[in-house]
Amino acid sequence: MARDYDVIVVGSGAAGLAAAVAAADAGASVLVVESEKRVGGSSRLSGGHFYAAGTSVQREAGVVGDTADAMFEHYMTLAQWLVDPAVVRRYCDLSAPTLEWAMGLGVKYPKEALYASGVGSIPRGHPPEGEGAEVINVLDRHRTNRSVDVVLDSRVTALVTDDEGRVTGVKIGDDEATCGAVIMATGGFGANPEMIEKYLPQAAATGDWRWYIGAEGARGDGITLGEAVGGVVDGHDRALLLATPGFSRDLEVALPGWLVMVNRQGRRFCDETASYTVIAGLLNKQGGHAYAVFDEGARADAKRSPQFQAYWVNEILEQKADEGVIFREDTLAALATNAGIDPEGLEGTVERYNIDAEEGHDTAFFKKATMAPIRTPPFYAAEIRPAILCWTGTGLRINADTCVINKADKPIRGLYAAGETVGNLHGDVYIGGGGSYGPCLVFGKLAGENAAKYARSVND
Ligand SMILES: Cc1cc2nc3c(=O)[nH]c(=O)nc-3n(C[C@H](O)[C@H](O)[C@H](O)COP(=O)(O)OP(=O)(O)OC[C@H]3O[C@@H](n4cnc5c(N)ncnc54)[C@H](O)[C@@H]3O)c2cc1C
Repeated sequence: MARDYDVIVVGSGAAGLAAAVAAADAGASVLVVESEKRVGGSSRLSGGHFYAAGTSVQREAGVVGDTADAMFEHYMTLAQWLVDPAVVRRYCDLSAPTLEWAMGLGVKYPKEALYASGVGSIPRGHPPEGEGAEVINVLDRHRTNRSVDVVLDSRVTALVTDDEGRVTGVKIGDDEATCGAVIMATGGFGANPEMIEKYLPQAAATGDWRWYIGAEGARGDGITLGEAVGGVVDGHDRALLLATPGFSRDLEVALPGWLVMVNRQGRRFCDETASYTVIAGLLNKQGGHAYAVFDEGARADAKRSPQFQAYWVNEILEQKADEGVIFREDTLAALATNAGIDPEGLEGTVERYNIDAEEGHDTAFFKKATMAPIRTPPFYAAEIRPAILCWTGTGLRINADTCVINKADKPIRGLYAAGETVGNLHGDVYIGGGGSYGPCLVFGKLAGENAAKYARSVND
C-alpha cells in the first residue's frame, strides 16, 4: 500500500520547519503536523540567535580565524565533557554552513549585531533581523513554496511501528498517516509541570516562583512518543533558568550591578553581573537561592532603564518592601536575622564591599559595574531564585545523524529528532545565546536530509 508521505515532521518550530524544507529539497514528499493553531512554537517567541563559528558574518565583522574546532573545544570544556561529543561535534561542524543556508533562504544576520554570547570572548552569537519570528516566517514561506503540507490544531498522539519496530507513521487522534520516516521536532517540556518534577529537579525546587517563557505546545510529547517506541531520555536536569526576585512574570535576563548578592552564610559567591548563562548554576550551588542586599541609597537611585523595567526599580522595590516580599530593617544585623542570613558573615561582606566600592575596585569578584556601598538605612534583602524557565535540555538521545537511539545504542529505524526535544546536547552550563536555536536549525536541516534519504531507501 502506498504511504501517504515520505517524511512526517511533528512540530513546526525552527527545528520542524528547517527539517521540512530540507526534506523537500532532498526530494521527499512532506507533511508537517502541528498541535497548535499556528506554526512556530517557542521559536516564534524567541530571539532566534544562532551560536556559530567560522561564519561569513563573523569575517565581515572582522572576527577572523574562528573555527568549528575552537567552538568544539570551548563547548566541551564548559560542559566538562558531560554531553555527547559526537553530537556536539556535528553541531560545531555544521553551525557555519547551516547559518549560511538560512541566509540563503533569506534570514538576515547583521554583522553589527554579532556579539560574544555566554562566557566566551569570541563573538559567536548571531541575532537575526526580526528575531525568531522572522526566521519562522522565512522558513514557513519556503515550506509553502515547496508545497509541503501542514495540518494545524492536530496533536500527534502516537507513533506507528511495523513488525520489525520501524516507525512507519503517526496517529493524530483517530486518524493515521503513513510515511517512510518521522522527525520528532516537538520542542521542550517547559509547559508540562509533571515532566518538570520528573526530569528537572532544579526547576521543580523553585516551587511556585517558577514560570515558563515559551509556548503552550512545549508539553514534552517528543519524549513520551519517542520512549513509547524504545527511545532513551538523556540529559537529566538540564535547562536554562534565569535568576529572579519573583515579583511578577516579567522577563528580565540579568541582575543590576549595584546590588550585592549573598548566600545564607552572608558571603558573596559571584560577580552579580555574571552572564545569565551561569547564574542559575551558581545559585544552585548555594542551595537554590540567595539574597540581593542593598541600602536605601541604592534603592532610591534604581531608575527604570531599558534593561531593568520590572523588578529593580525604586518604586517597585519600595512597594515590595511594604508588602513584606522584601525584607527591610534599620540594621544589617536585624536584616540578616530576619532573612535567615548569618549576621556576622553579612557584616564582614558588607565591610569589605564598602571599602571596594569607595576605591572603585571589586577585589573579590572583579565586577566591572559601579558598586553602591551599603551604608544608609533602611537595609533591604530580596530573595533570588533561578525560577524563570527558558528552555529544557532533557530529551531524546540522538546520534550525530539525528537518528533517535534506543537502549542498545542503536538507531530506531525511521525515527529522527531535532531541536529542544533532543537531550544529549546541553551541558550544565549553557554555551550562550544562540546555543538552542542554532542546533534547532542545524539538526532540523540534517534530520530533514537524512530522513528523506532513509525514506527513499525503504521505498526501494
Ligand atoms: C522568549 C524566548 C527567547 C529565546 N531566545 C533564544 C535565543 O535568542 N537563542 C537561542 O538559542 N534560544 C532561545 N530560546 C530558546 C529557543 O528559541 C528554543 O529552544 C527553540 O526555538 C525550540 O525550537 P523547537 O523547534 O525545538 O521547538 P518549538 O519552537 O517549541 O516547536 C515545537 C512545536 O511542536 C509542537 N508540538 C508539540 N507537541 C506536538 C505534538 N504532539 N503534535 C504536533 N505538534 C506538537 C508545538 O506546538 C510547537 O509548535 C528562546 C526561547 C524563548 C521562549
